[in-house]
Amino acid sequence: MKYKIFTYGCQANEHDSERIAYILEKLGYTATDDEKEADFIAYNTCLIRENAELKVYGHLGAIKKLKREKPEMILAVCGCMMQTGPARDVIKEKYSHVDIIFGTGNIDKLPELISLHKTTNQIVVDVDSYIDLDNGYIRAHDFTAYVNIMTGCDNFCTYCIVPYARGREKSRPINEIVQEVKNLANRGYKEITLLGQNVNSYGKDLGHTFPELLYALDAEVKNLDILRFMTSHPKDLSDELIEAMSKIDMIAKHFHLPLQSGSTKVLKEMNRKYSSDDYKLLVRKLRDKMPDICLTTDIIVGFAGESEQDHLDTIELCKEVEFDSAFTFIYSPRPGTPAANREDQIPEEIKSRRFQELLDAIYPIFNKKNKAELGKTHKVIVESVSKNNDEMLSGRTFSNKLIHFKGNKELIGEVVNVKVTSHTSFTLEGEIID
Ligand code: SF4
Repeated sequence: MKYKIFTYGCQANEHDSERIAYILEKLGYTATDDEKEADFIAYNTCLIRENAELKVYGHLGAIKKLKREKPEMILAVCGCMMQTGPARDVIKEKYSHVDIIFGTGNIDKLPELISLHKTTNQIVVDVDSYIDLDNGYIRAHDFTAYVNIMTGCDNFCTYCIVPYARGREKSRPINEIVQEVKNLANRGYKEITLLGQNVNSYGKDLGHTFPELLYALDAEVKNLDILRFMTSHPKDLSDELIEAMSKIDMIAKHFHLPLQSGSTKVLKEMNRKYSSDDYKLLVRKLRDKMPDICLTTDIIVGFAGESEQDHLDTIELCKEVEFDSAFTFIYSPRPGTPAANREDQIPEEIKSRRFQELLDAIYPIFNKKNKAELGKTHKVIVESVSKNNDEMLSGRTFSNKLIHFKGNKELIGEVVNVKVTSHTSFTLEGEIID
């Protein structure tokens, strides 16, 4: 029996797909890239952006013919979209060839759900939530792995559907996380990323803090090259966390700190709970402790009610902070969120113009930051053969910059030293040195 999983969205979904793969393999399935030979297909969905949602509906429409020809094939839809009633109703009404719908919190019930579907031949829907221990899951790579440290989010940013879809924050106990990371390191994993919607508030429900978790990992895990974490929220970035980061060698000196807007007024309307000055202060504190830290961010352009001055404030802040890189998004209202009901939505042509103006401001900064890397030598985990040139390898510096260099593909999964020889605004190029 074969399975194929389509994954949309973020690292949390990628990790959930690894867990689904693990369960399916325990049931005797093996992976395939060809959906035509699959006996089980899962669509692990995302609802952060409308585009991802539309893609799922498109794929479900396209697979209908195959399901008709091969009715015994099981089609499952899971992930964030399935945590919301309206999306589940659409699937049930319009895509009746779907066999199983399950949520983000009950992946471990998949064997039961498959068995229930096989015995009843009815659609099985189960989206109850619980957090579980996920030691031992299959990982997409055999040298880098994600580890969930918490689920859900309590922040209710007014543009975001996640708290409604993934529920409130629940942290995993420190000892479980430490054990999982130790197991992975002992199995040869070199890089681990701790995952959560807001890792900076890890442990609030357990009477612990995120720095405590980091110190516990530092004390217990001895054979790991690099520890990363994402995502962070500026309002919960404490001095203790900055201190822990600076002291613990294995933590990547990279901070992804979503800004979203450089206007305090817009930040308030987004319910972000920090001002642009608060954000700049955090950047100063990070750079004071770790002068070479790589800083990346997320920015939303054209949020409801964003004025021309708010937009200019964002550009100004970006010029002042000088991020190494940024994920930039044009705001699109998500049904079910408070901001979607606002009447002062920004017209698409204005959003597009502002988006381009932001890119015009930040790309030269990325270029300048990468230029400053010329001649430096970085430790790099070799990830793969380059997508654009099969004579080159690709990897990430410990500070999380993408770098390409010549080398034998047997080095994939190894840590090498690479000297930076050239750059673009988005990537580095270099050569392996002893
Ligand atoms: S912190 Fe805000 S943007 Fe991030 S998941 Fe929570 S609600 Fe969404």
